[in-house]
Amino acid sequence: MNPATLTTHNPSTGEVLATLPVTPSDTLSTLFAQARQAQREWSKLPVKIRASKLLDARECLLDQRDALTRLITAENGKPPFEAFSAEVFASADLLTYYAKHSHRILRPKSLPLSLFKYRRSRLEYAPVGVAAVISPWNYPFLLPMGEIAPLLVAGNAVIFKPSEVTPLIGLEIQKIFDQAEFPKHLLQTVIGDGQLGQALIEQKPDKIFFTGSVATGKKVMTQAAGHLIPVNLELGGKDALIVLEDADLDYASSAVLWGSFANSGQVCASTERLLVHESVAAEFKRLIAAKAARLTPGDLGAITFEKQKLVYTDHIAEARASGAEIVFGGEFNSDRTRLAPTLVTGPKIESLKVYTEETFGPVVAMTTFKSDEEAITKANDSRYGLLAAIITGNVARARSIASRLEVGTITINEVLYTAGMAETPWGGIKESGIGRSHGEFGLLEGVHVRHIHEPRFQGLWFKSPWWYPYTPIQLELFKRSLELYRRAWTRKLAALPGLLAQGIRTLLRDRRI
Ligand code: NDP
Repeated sequence: MNPATLTTHNPSTGEVLATLPVTPSDTLSTLFAQARQAQREWSKLPVKIRASKLLDARECLLDQRDALTRLITAENGKPPFEAFSAEVFASADLLTYYAKHSHRILRPKSLPLSLFKYRRSRLEYAPVGVAAVISPWNYPFLLPMGEIAPLLVAGNAVIFKPSEVTPLIGLEIQKIFDQAEFPKHLLQTVIGDGQLGQALIEQKPDKIFFTGSVATGKKVMTQAAGHLIPVNLELGGKDALIVLEDADLDYASSAVLWGSFANSGQVCASTERLLVHESVAAEFKRLIAAKAARLTPGDLGAITFEKQKLVYTDHIAEARASGAEIVFGGEFNSDRTRLAPTLVTGPKIESLKVYTEETFGPVVAMTTFKSDEEAITKANDSRYGLLAAIITGNVARARSIASRLEVGTITINEVLYTAGMAETPWGGIKESGIGRSHGEFGLLEGVHVRHIHEPRFQGLWFKSPWWYPYTPIQLELFKRSLELYRRAWTRKLAALPGLLAQGIRTLLRDRRI
């Protein structure tokens, strides 16, 4: 049995924001049945109509932008500017992108066939059905929106479980789609914790879109495997920022500050590992420290999730105990709602948790390298593979490094922000996940490809040469056809007359079976 209520707090003040009824897990089967019914009707509508509904949702979002921003700051703890720009604004952009481009992306496509010219193939994109979207608390508005909008426009229904830490923000997403008059039961939000997430999977959604930690992602995938449910997993990261010796250090140090401390570092794509060319490392460290001292509490969000503080304490304690240099930060404020921006370095840094494991807080671990080769090796030396960034005065050099980095996204002379972009694919490799969100690739995660194969010329009822009965004539035809795969044109041409003759013989053979 799951608990009956769930209480949500303001992480900056501890104030109780609401106590909500938890969705009983024994009601899930009804919700799924309703979703399946709604999805059947919704998927019959043309993509253009479904896409235009996203613009209605965008309108509702724009009307409520200030109230939404306030709620996101209250329940998640990020500064109002970040709540507005990275959640509300970025979501409006996502809705716009999918309203505008879904029709083109989901249009049926013809597939050229090289051998069977008398046939043709068409690809259609069919919605997967009812998808489960399970989201974390760090970007509780943008992240689910980035899954829900493309899933709906692709013709799916969605059962959405926001994090138990940020349920009110999840319910606002539901409200927006309700106000935009999406069909009843097409999107349904359920309230509860991880247990409810497990119960959702037991209902056998047609696909699971999970964003969260690697540990939970593995559990989700294991449970999904029991039902052979496909999964899209957007998991953690330990992202490296490489600062080359030709970088503008003022620019690079500002980039590090934002890349590491935005949303108090509670970002999957946060800069958690800083790799600096050894010739500029001392100066760079001094610059970051000077700039970090200028950050105000208004620039830094609260720590959203109480348990996350244990990870910070553990990583920083291990660093201290091993003699690492805490260049700045490392302490909580008096009410323990925030951790000061923290830079850790030292000769042993690369063996410490603060460098190897996701901290998911305002903490960055710095090391050095001597050559591009060493920078690449160090950046790739991680079980994660979400994002990497390179700051340099030489974009060509950065591109050649980028092509060798084992991550899903590389930003050159930028950090972090493409995680929120509508057009560009987002997702990781290695333990950072499976599949992509956003852009064309994100939309295609919500469909399966239906292949339709048909005759090019109607009324020609000649039977295929691979059908019964199997005869020597038929085998000879295939042998001669194989000659068309020769590299030399002369050999291909030489095979043609025999092939033609064999083709006619095959057509004329006894075809009573
Ligand atoms: P969790 O993995 O703890 O939780 C994610 C979601 O899964 C929550 O809704 C949670 O519910 C739910 N859940 C927990 N257990 C289960 C289960 N067994 N079955 C199904 N659902 C379950 O992650 P956090 O919320 O702590 O988020 C932080 C993590 O998310 C970080 O590792 C971060 O890197 C990653 N992340 C990845 C992103 C990406 O795009 N790659 C983007 C943002 C974050 P509840 O919270 O109610 O317990």
